[in-house]
Amino acid sequence: MAKPSIIAIDGPAASGKSTLGERLAQRLGYLYFDTGIMYRAVTWAAICKLGRVDDENAVSTLSELVEIDLRTPTIKDGRKADVLLDGVDITWEIRRPEVDANVSEVSAYRRVRKAMTVQQRRIGQRGGVVMVGRDIGTVVFPEAELKIYLVASVEERAKRRYREVILRGEAVEFERILDALRRRDAYDSGRKLAPMRPAEDAVILETDGLSITEVLEQAMKLVQR
Ligand code: C5P
Repeated sequence: MAKPSIIAIDGPAASGKSTLGERLAQRLGYLYFDTGIMYRAVTWAAICKLGRVDDENAVSTLSELVEIDLRTPTIKDGRKADVLLDGVDITWEIRRPEVDANVSEVSAYRRVRKAMTVQQRRIGQRGGVVMVGRDIGTVVFPEAELKIYLVASVEERAKRRYREVILRGEAVEFERILDALRRRDAYDSGRKLAPMRPAEDAVILETDGLSITEVLEQAMKLVQR
């Protein structure tokens, strides 16, 4: 049986989308494409070049001008890809708390979404791709043959994110992470444009208490269905 050519994985922050997406892509020999990186890169560009993110017009124009690129990692420091903004490596900058705090506002801007969606469609149309985000199954590729929507409680997700940050050697308070996730969830699901929600034909996978291997096996069953 033919495998789905485009696999959409959506869900809230730290629900395990990127780990699942990456492993699934590896198993299938597909391209793994994390669309959150693009919104994060635009947010970082706005912070650096404009010093603010609340000027919708300026941020939108910036998003249409910057060049965001992904390439195979050139440094072995746990990164899954090099993220380049106009040729400059910003792989870890886009994970900073000020990006976490501002990315939802930036990604709610109409022209920013349009610019990012066009690029995501161009890359995805080649097929053989696992695309991860918030609106892949609903807006970017509503025609995707397989749509998975991951869910997990906010406490479980905060624990996962906390462990990641601590493992990177950074200092952070658990409560701060929990708070930021709650705020981001509310913003991402409450926005007018492309709100985070499962597509009608998405399969919902609840990942609380499941290991990544268990989630991957469930997803593989869906691929082979
Ligand atoms: O997936 P990640 O948490 O890195 O995404 C960062 C932010 O980018 C999300 O909180 C959301 O605001 C935005 N995003 C989006 N649409 C996508 C992917 C991410 O709006 N397809």
